[in-house]
Amino acid sequence: MLDRAGRPLRDLRVSVTDRCNFRCIYCMPESAYPKESRYLPSQRLLSFDEIERLVRLFVNELGVRKVRISGGEPLLRPGLPDLVARLAAIPGLSDLALTTNGYLLSDLAPALARAGLSRLTVSLDSLDPQEFAALSGGQAALEQVLDGIDAAITAGLAPLKINCVVMRGRNQGAILSLARRFRGTAHVVRFIEYMDVGTINGWQRSDVVPANEILESLAAAGPLVALAPNYPGEVARRYGWRDTAGEVGIIASVTQPFCGACHRARLSADGRLLTCLFAASGVDILGMLRSGESDSALLARIGYTWRERNDRYSEDRHARSQSSAHKRLEMYQIGG
Ligand code: SAM
Ligand code: SF4
Ligand code: SF4
Repeated sequence: MLDRAGRPLRDLRVSVTDRCNFRCIYCMPESAYPKESRYLPSQRLLSFDEIERLVRLFVNELGVRKVRISGGEPLLRPGLPDLVARLAAIPGLSDLALTTNGYLLSDLAPALARAGLSRLTVSLDSLDPQEFAALSGGQAALEQVLDGIDAAITAGLAPLKINCVVMRGRNQGAILSLARRFRGTAHVVRFIEYMDVGTINGWQRSDVVPANEILESLAAAGPLVALAPNYPGEVARRYGWRDTAGEVGIIASVTQPFCGACHRARLSADGRLLTCLFAASGVDILGMLRSGESDSALLARIGYTWRERNDRYSEDRHARSQSSAHKRLEMYQIGG
């Protein structure tokens, strides 16, 4: 099944909640989304039964092999390890991953490992406690996330991916400190260009640290060598260290967009099917599920949506930059 740009559907990202215990300034800033804000009521979230049914359809009928659970903060969804176990048991799903801010990992890592999670990504934007607290909107203690990372390693979820969103004037020092900390280990640190997802973060292009600048900073940690992608269309550019083990990646969504190889569909926490991270709206799959539609009706709708897909927001960004009024869903609603 190909979209209008000839791209197959290969992976699916499922957001299990719009809640978050952090207020990262690039995603859900406290000023726009105060702590007392209302989240979706639980009955408007996809249930575990609904998620499992949809993932089975995506895997069995639509060729998806990789699923990533995200949010909001997915570990805030009660019973998450049960969902992981249900999805891990789906034949044909070869890769089940989770992205988390790590805050609750100390408690949940063993259960997630037992449930059969294949891969774990932890977001970690700084190793400096004050900087970390400022980036997470004052909500988070670095130590707790580092303890969570240790717990995940002990539980057998390593090697981990560590995601760092780089913002100019905020955490550029983290490029070097994270590279040095994880150099020589099997954990992969990925530096992500700050993106204009949503509209509440007040994104400006001048806040973006471009990939080539990230690469220059990394060189101070050791000599790098470019590595081939693990698979066609991998979003991160990979680099290894010449003098030791380990790998870093750069996700240059702004300066080197990769829409041509974008094979990902997304399900928002309230059950909308999105074909792009920068979508303004999605197809109401939750409504279809709850009005009793059959599997074949769901498949027809999902298939039609994918075949009609023509998204390439990042490649068009430059042309669009003058019209920042373009309405977009927020990152915490979509799951990254
Ligand atoms: N709460 C979890 C976390 O932070 O890992 C999962 C959801 S979060 C939306 C998924 C990923 O998106 C995180 O790695 C986060 O750093 C990244 N992200 C959020 N807003 C972003 C932005 N404006 N630009 C680039 N990455 C962003
Ligand atoms: Fe929460 Fe993740 Fe967004 Fe930070 S990036 S506010 S942890 S959803
Ligand atoms: Fe995919 Fe949309 Fe991102 Fe392009 S902008 S890579 S189409 S999610």
